Amino acid sequence: MPNNSCLKLGCIADDFTGATDLANNLVRSGMRVVQTIGVPTTPLAADVEAVVVALKSRTIPAAEAIAQSLDALQWLQAQGAQQIYFKYCSTFDSTPEGNIGPVTEALMDALHTDFTIATPAFPDNGRTVFKGYLFAGNVLLNESGMQNHPLTPMTDANLVRVMQAQTKRKVGLIDYKTVALGEAAIRERISALRAEGVGVAVVDATSNEDLHRMGPALKDMPLVTAGSGVAIGLPANFGLKPSLQASQLPASRGLQAVVSGSCSLATNAQVAHFKATGRPAMAINPAALMHGQSDAVVQQVLAWAAPLLKDGPVLVYSTAEPEAVKAVQAQLGVAEAGALVEHALAAVARGLVGLGVQQLVVAGGETSGACVQARGIAQLQIGPQIDPGVPWCHAPSSTGGVHITLKSGNFGTEDFFSKAFGVLQ
Ligand code: ADP
Repeated sequence: MPNNSCLKLGCIADDFTGATDLANNLVRSGMRVVQTIGVPTTPLAADVEAVVVALKSRTIPAAEAIAQSLDALQWLQAQGAQQIYFKYCSTFDSTPEGNIGPVTEALMDALHTDFTIATPAFPDNGRTVFKGYLFAGNVLLNESGMQNHPLTPMTDANLVRVMQAQTKRKVGLIDYKTVALGEAAIRERISALRAEGVGVAVVDATSNEDLHRMGPALKDMPLVTAGSGVAIGLPANFGLKPSLQASQLPASRGLQAVVSGSCSLATNAQVAHFKATGRPAMAINPAALMHGQSDAVVQQVLAWAAPLLKDGPVLVYSTAEPEAVKAVQAQLGVAEAGALVEHALAAVARGLVGLGVQQLVVAGGETSGACVQARGIAQLQIGPQIDPGVPWCHAPSSTGGVHITLKSGNFGTEDFFSKAFGVLQ
């Protein structure tokens, strides 16, 4: 028996930050959303309209990506999901072997459906599809730098060809002229394509209005595959519209802290801005963590933070300029330096929560992963957006839960660390 009566949309995302991006779009379009880290082993913890299961399946072998995606599907179906959404990158990151095509086909088979769409379009973020060709900003995908991606080089912008190379089903196109005409025309085109034996249709979209026009035509489609853009047109199919209620989290309480392990340009500026406001900040030097000194350093940091927390947020950071990072990496090795710092920052985050912190900002994709893992967080309810793509989340627990935001490197304005707490109030 499905145990979540209001669940509508079950989403499977092929990476963590992409999952948050999708969840954020759904919340802003009126759905209450929980994001899970991997496939949960327990039932859904909250009453929500959508769940996004975050996998890390973008570049793993296709067979493993299929197995994980089918696991996610099974769990989502057990929770009562009415429609499934497979989310991939807005630059269609994949190789001729997959994983977008193979996972799409496996999900189609499992759902016993002979037709789905595929479109990474998200015009608000500069991703448009025209006559089947994907543009990133003003240039074709294969001129955008993505042709040199180390893992998934995208050398062809024609998504019909790209998708056809990784799927046995016939791939077709629903072009911009059809999309402009709206639901009836799109449905008619889908029927025609189906009659021709097409199983997957790339869909053009050059504006967010196109995504909204597409939405109604996708009602009742068992599987939708897309970037995060198509999601903005789906909540209306379930009678939901944008509302403050969708992003409502339990009331925020407790002390506030920021933990930053990102060394991106944006994060360096955010750390500098926070320090300039006169708030307390403590740097962790990666070299000091060597030779088993990590635990001692973590204890020092926590002892420093303990008396300060009652007066407002504190910042603990390893964030450094590129030259300093390179010097540490030369000394320790890239992977070793990363792991050492992630481990220490995760221990700091856990310790801060132990000291009563219940509002936590974490900067850095990998750093976020380490902190979430160290806290044993498996499900996050998605709340209000702080900056595009970065919402507050709430991880429930028996002791009242923690509000946490996971900011990947280059996101957020300079005053992000200070303004984030204001958004929660
Ligand atoms: P971003 O989202 O900006 O890529 P991540 O957290 O994903 O941030 O990656 C930053 C990586 O750099 C992490 O592995 C982190 O542990 C490591 N790191 C952080 N600070 C330093 C530092 N001062 N020197 C070397 N490596 C660092």
